[in-house]
Amino acid sequence: MTAPASNDALMEDIVGLCKRRGFIFASSEIYGGYNGFYDYGPLGVELRNNIKQAWWRDMVHRRDDIEGLDSTIIMHPKIWKASGHIDSFSDPLVDCKDSKRRYRADQLFFAPVIIDGETLGYVAFVEGTDMPTILKRAKKIRDWADKTQSKIDEDALANDRKEVTEASEEQRAQMLAPEAGKVGSLTAPREFKLMFETKVGPLADDSAVAYLRPETAQGIFANYKNIVDTGRVKIPFGIAQIGKAFRNEITPRNFIFRSREFEQMEIEYFIAPDADWKALHREWLDTCINWLVSIGLPRKSITEDVHATEKLAFYSQATTDLMFQFPHGEQELWGVACRSDYDLKQHQKHSGKSMEIFDEASKSKFVPHVIEPSLGVDRTLLAVLTAAYTEDEVPNGKGKVEKRILLKFSPRVAPYKAAIFPLLKNKPELVEVAEKLYKKLQRRWNVFYDASGAIGRRYRRQDEIGTPFGITIDFDTIEKDGTVTLRDRDTCEQRRVTEAELIEFLEEQIDG
Ligand code: ATP
Repeated sequence: MTAPASNDALMEDIVGLCKRRGFIFASSEIYGGYNGFYDYGPLGVELRNNIKQAWWRDMVHRRDDIEGLDSTIIMHPKIWKASGHIDSFSDPLVDCKDSKRRYRADQLFFAPVIIDGETLGYVAFVEGTDMPTILKRAKKIRDWADKTQSKIDEDALANDRKEVTEASEEQRAQMLAPEAGKVGSLTAPREFKLMFETKVGPLADDSAVAYLRPETAQGIFANYKNIVDTGRVKIPFGIAQIGKAFRNEITPRNFIFRSREFEQMEIEYFIAPDADWKALHREWLDTCINWLVSIGLPRKSITEDVHATEKLAFYSQATTDLMFQFPHGEQELWGVACRSDYDLKQHQKHSGKSMEIFDEASKSKFVPHVIEPSLGVDRTLLAVLTAAYTEDEVPNGKGKVEKRILLKFSPRVAPYKAAIFPLLKNKPELVEVAEKLYKKLQRRWNVFYDASGAIGRRYRRQDEIGTPFGITIDFDTIEKDGTVTLRDRDTCEQRRVTEAELIEFLEEQIDG
């Protein structure tokens, strides 16, 4: 894997806008924040809920083969023994003895500093670090070797990159860590457990140890039998769940991309052991890509990362990650894994309960295999923000061209679907009609009412929070034909529509 280039300025713009307009705040901010935890403000919670609702509607309500579930965050610890999490849910960690910083070894890269064909040492950098920064660090190694005037092999620095997990002891001894003042400060990688522990019940001894779930998937496997026994499911079928997950990430970073408390939207799709899993895997990848496009992500910013067979867990048949071009580089958004019958068989073994299903179609009994599409809500939200953030120039009310910031949210996920404006706030006839329309639309959608300030400024405020449609009540509305002005956020184009046309248009755009 290579360390992708980042767009720090875009990330700063997004983080700034999220705070300024009340989308996302650092958790516990009045106490200086809490690394890896974020709170969603008034607009953020709407965006988040809309993403979850769009997913639920498309994956559960609009399909006949998927059922929903809401299982608990804390479950019997035996579940995590059976799933393998207690023994192996960990990440490789390295410490820097000089800067006292910690890094995930599989996200720390290193490249050789070569001068005249001779390797003088290695420079380590976190993923997303730009070339000028890497070169600056490499120059330190060159200077310490008293070769200040010599040319560094920049090609090797840019292309001969490996993960620090692959470094030998000798290479680590010559390696300059990202914030270290000397070489050789990185420890050997060791495994760091990611599950948060807690205690359940009155006893404080080891028997009370429980875990906050690091994924929602095991709640699905643990309830699979209940759903098979009580529902009318038949193979193939899926169980979907949305819920919080917790991981004590070593290096929470890149805003909400990697946090310690996050939310997942997961499906376990159960199939017959002899089903054409390759075709079904492809079908799921296409379903997932189409869904991402339906909430506003450009098709061209989604790519597929097929995991190499030799890197897969022994039970896994295939995993493909859908990658998205985030501001900090191309990174995993949605993992789609074929996990065979491993999880159900593990739970069958540890619980002693049969996980077999009787399949009417083939008149046979078996433990199904699964395909698991697993998506993070917060990562999706960051992807939606990244795709939506735009700066352009449009004429203001007086015809002067001005810079504007807008969020081009799809109407499906936009926090407010439309804003209603009486042209003037001191004309009761306009205000009365506008308020009536506002109340009517509010019964179906989250809409905004704004009567104060110049109309151009009111449009701008809505553009910046991504409201797709502006509806203005003006004198033509009350004096002529009752039509209103409908303004499009992205093109700023305006047209007159009747109330019936307006509602039909909004229905199609928002609920379609
Ligand atoms: P990564 O390699 O980035 O740590 P992962 O492969 O461990 O991710 P999975 O265990 O497959 O991730 O989790 C499924 C999905 O949950 C991911 O694709 C991502 O969208 C989301 N996710 C996982 N970890 C986090 C996190 N710490 N913060 C936010 N979302 C996360």
